[in-house]
Amino acid sequence: MDQEPFLRSRLFCPGPTPTPVAFRTAPLVRTPYHRSEEFYRRFLNCRSLMQEIIHSEVAPLILTCSGTGALEAAVQNLTAEGDEVLVIHCGRFGERWRDICKRYLCTVHTVEAPYGSVPDIGAIKTALIKNPGIKAVFFQGTETSTAVTLPIQTIADVIRQNSSALIIVDAISYLLAHPFDMQAMAVDVVAFASQKAFGLAPGLAFLGLSPKAWQGISKRPRFYFDLNDEQRSQDKGVSIWTPAIDLVISLEVCLERVKAIGTNAIADWHRQAASAVRGAMQALDLELLASDHFAHGVTAVRIPRGIDGKALTRHLREQYAATFAGGQGPLEGKIFRIGHLGFVDRFDLIAGIAALEFTLNDLGRKVAFGTGVGTYMKALR
Ligand SMILES: *Cc1c(COP(=O)(O)O)cnc(C)c1O
Repeated sequence: MDQEPFLRSRLFCPGPTPTPVAFRTAPLVRTPYHRSEEFYRRFLNCRSLMQEIIHSEVAPLILTCSGTGALEAAVQNLTAEGDEVLVIHCGRFGERWRDICKRYLCTVHTVEAPYGSVPDIGAIKTALIKNPGIKAVFFQGTETSTAVTLPIQTIADVIRQNSSALIIVDAISYLLAHPFDMQAMAVDVVAFASQKAFGLAPGLAFLGLSPKAWQGISKRPRFYFDLNDEQRSQDKGVSIWTPAIDLVISLEVCLERVKAIGTNAIADWHRQAASAVRGAMQALDLELLASDHFAHGVTAVRIPRGIDGKALTRHLREQYAATFAGGQGPLEGKIFRIGHLGFVDRFDLIAGIAALEFTLNDLGRKVAFGTGVGTYMKALR
């Protein structure tokens, strides 16, 4: 079957996510020079709107890089060679923290859990008590590769009770999909990026630091990501290096939209969407990867027996122009992931679930049309 004419491409990945037209067109209308009063005003407005979103004491920094750049900047600026750190991991992205810390010659302790579960709080406590020299603890808000969410507040509490280590969270696929409050959660460093819930193109990453984290900046050599230099420059209204100007202009439109809707309403929608999508998968007799701690921005589903995992995502994309994410690392070919992160609305997901129903039937797994879609609609009634 050739793809039908007029089929529209739809993204159902946990990043990049669909970009609203108003965000895309803002820089086309007008792109100011980055060393101008107009740009400084917009840049500072973005930092202060983001500060409201994450509830930080200090305005976050805007970096020109993908999300991993912000993770690297955190490790580079907050650890020194030989420092003991703890990495809590349960999937591909947690392993990324571990790998960056190793590359920067930290002494890395880990608390791990199998893909699909979350690490045990008791094991985190034990690791902290056994290794009192630990200076920083790294983990994810949402482990995007398995679609589970770590209990940030509980983990932060256990760290605070047993250690004075910095608490460093990759909230790249967590922010906006879940309620987040840096000060209430006692998080010291938070990283997030443009292409997830903010619905922008990739290219900007953000780093929020608590006063304690600012005091804890290490003496490593660094250049592009020197956060002290960045903060001095950004407090005047522009990054040291040329920023992704167009993305900053789009970001301002996005953040004004987020403010108008409200972060509570946004997180609440993500929770409802995730729950409705899980209901649809179960109605289609598909098994979820996780049994609890479900992420609100992405759902991971096991590939049913008898179907080739890669063929499933390929068929969705080639026949129905619906881009779902596959599995990563040991989960490659074993799961598919549906992103419902950012500016995805209730009707978009009907198209996604319908594309999945067509695909399952095409690939020989007979499901009654509307089974998933109907369950999803009833859940959102
Ligand atoms: C998307 C994502 C990243 C960032 O990856 P980049 O490709 O560098 O933008 C990091 N951590 C998590 C949990 C993510 O979901």
